[in-house]
Amino acid sequence: MSNTKSGFSIERRGLELRFRNLTLAAREWLAPHFVRVRLTGSELEGFGSLGSDDHMRLFFPSGPTNSVEELRASPSREYTPLAWGEGWLDVEFAVHGDQGIAAPWAATAPVGSTVGAGGPRGSAVIVGDPGAWMLVGDETAIPAIRRFAALIPEGTPARIVVEVASSEDEIQIDAPVAIEWVHRGDNLAGSALVTFLETLTADDAVGPDPFVFIAAEQSIVKPGRALLTRWSVDTDHAVVKGYWKRDEDEYHAPH
Ligand SMILES: Cc1cc2nc3c(=O)[nH]c(=O)nc-3n(C[C@H](O)[C@H](O)[C@H](O)COP(=O)(O)OP(=O)(O)OC[C@H]3O[C@@H](n4cnc5c(N)ncnc54)[C@H](O)[C@@H]3O)c2cc1C
Repeated sequence: MSNTKSGFSIERRGLELRFRNLTLAAREWLAPHFVRVRLTGSELEGFGSLGSDDHMRLFFPSGPTNSVEELRASPSREYTPLAWGEGWLDVEFAVHGDQGIAAPWAATAPVGSTVGAGGPRGSAVIVGDPGAWMLVGDETAIPAIRRFAALIPEGTPARIVVEVASSEDEIQIDAPVAIEWVHRGDNLAGSALVTFLETLTADDAVGPDPFVFIAAEQSIVKPGRALLTRWSVDTDHAVVKGYWKRDEDEYHAPH
């Protein structure tokens, strides 16, 4: 598994870690269990995110805070910066029920609520041109998949496979290839992707010199890594990550 002839590499870039106080400005439901929120605030000046699967830590205080220490003491969860501009930042949330902190906040917090954002503080940036792209994830990975999909040149071999519960949970994702939706129905989260990943053989490789991104419930990590082996993809040309773990609050994915 040598990368010597590869047309791309994934490079780590550091960013200055900053904590920002923001306000929930708007909420748009894209599907019954998927919401996009717009966070605003003057502290967004200088906000940046270089890598498509960057994450920041969102903090959910019970009210406005007076110091970074106070903000950092409140509950927090990891989210992907989707899009940003002067004074605004959009984030998308899988709303998985009334458990937890982040998803209920995204679904129900009054517009005007305070929220904090820390980071992103490090990015993995694709430098050069992958020969092919394989993007696989559940709802929590949709923001990262959107950002990766925007980088795929027209005509480059690519597959984008997303697990949701049912057809009513499918949403618009702009990409140069059709999104392949898999439905878990009432089965465990991740199960449809696990089946999909396990059925891919060496002959199903998406194309030469691929970049592979696989992120969803933790159970996809093992079959995801097995796929890299079958496809002879070097681990430093891939991201395979559990974005959350069943029955575990505040799961911290290993970095
Ligand atoms: C690098 C990275 C980037 C991420 N980006 C995003 C993003 O942009 N958008 C996004 O929606 N999520 C994203 N996630 C996932 C998100 O951090 C977790 O889903 C988080 O646990 C949600 O917090 P919570 O407070 O709602 O639930 P928690 O308090 O963490 O968990 C409460 C319960 O809900 C379960 N649970 C947590 N998440 C889900 C889920 N998605 N579906 C079903 N059950 C769940 C847990 O297993 C637990 O039983 C990302 C994770 C990582 C590691």
